[in-house]
Amino acid sequence: MLQITLKTPAEINKMRKANMIVYEVLQAVKEMGVAGVTTAEMDAKATEIIQKAGAVPTFLNYVPAGSRVRPFPATICASKNEVIVHGIPDKVPLKDGDIVSIDCGCKIDDFCGDSAITFAIGKVSSLAERLMKTTELCLTSAIAQCLVGNRIGDISNAIQTLAEKAGFGVVRDFVGHGIGHIMHEPPHVPNYGRAGQGRILREGLVIAIEPMITQGTYVVEVLHDGWTAVTKDRQLAAHFEHSIAITKNGPIILSHP
Ligand code: MG
Ligand code: MG
Repeated sequence: MLQITLKTPAEINKMRKANMIVYEVLQAVKEMGVAGVTTAEMDAKATEIIQKAGAVPTFLNYVPAGSRVRPFPATICASKNEVIVHGIPDKVPLKDGDIVSIDCGCKIDDFCGDSAITFAIGKVSSLAERLMKTTELCLTSAIAQCLVGNRIGDISNAIQTLAEKAGFGVVRDFVGHGIGHIMHEPPHVPNYGRAGQGRILREGLVIAIEPMITQGTYVVEVLHDGWTAVTKDRQLAAHFEHSIAITKNGPIILSHP
C-alpha cells in the first residue's frame, strides 16, 4: 500500500514544473472556450503543449488501481454542464450557455501536477455563474486551511460549509488526494467533513484539493462508458483544483504562478 510521502523544499520546487505546464494547458483551453469549438480540439491542444514541454500526460490510459474500467482515452477530462468529472473529450461543438470543467495532469522530472478549472461558454445563467464562483471560493477557503498543524478535516469542512451555505451540494464519491511521484497518493482529501478531525497536516505534504460542487443533489451516476460522472438529477456541477504544498511559511499553490 502507498504511504504518505513528505517532500523536501527541493522536491516541492520540482513539483512546480509539472504544475506550471498544467497551468499553461488550462489557460490555453480556457482561451479556446467559445461556441463552436469542441473539447476534442481542446484535448489536442493540451497534448501538444504537454509534449512540447517534454512532459507526459498522466490521464491518458489511466486506470484507477483495482479497477477494470477501460483506460481513460484522453489527455484532459472535459466535463460539460451536468458532468461532474471524468468527461471524455468529444466532437460535439460547445454552445453558448454551457459550462465546462477541464481537468489536466502531467508528469515531468518524475513528479506530477494536477489542476482543474470550470469556465463559461458565452453567456450563462446567473445560477451557473454563482455555482462556478462558489466552487472557486470553496477552493480558496480550503487553501487558507493548509497550515502546518491543521487537519485534513479543516480543509474538508471549509469547502462543505461554504458550499452548503450557498445552497449547493458537495460530491462525496470523489475526493482530493496526495500527489508526488504518483498522481493519486494518500491521503484522501474529502470535500466534506468535520473541522479538527483527520490527519495532521505536516510540512512537506503536497495535496490536490478539488471541490466538486453541484446545483442540486450530490448523488453521482457514472455513465456506460465507465468514466463520465454526472449528477443523478442532471443539474449543473462545477470543479476547481489546485496542487498545494504545505510549508512552514504557509501554503504554496504549485499550479498557479
Ligand atoms: Mg485533476
Ligand atoms: Mg486530482
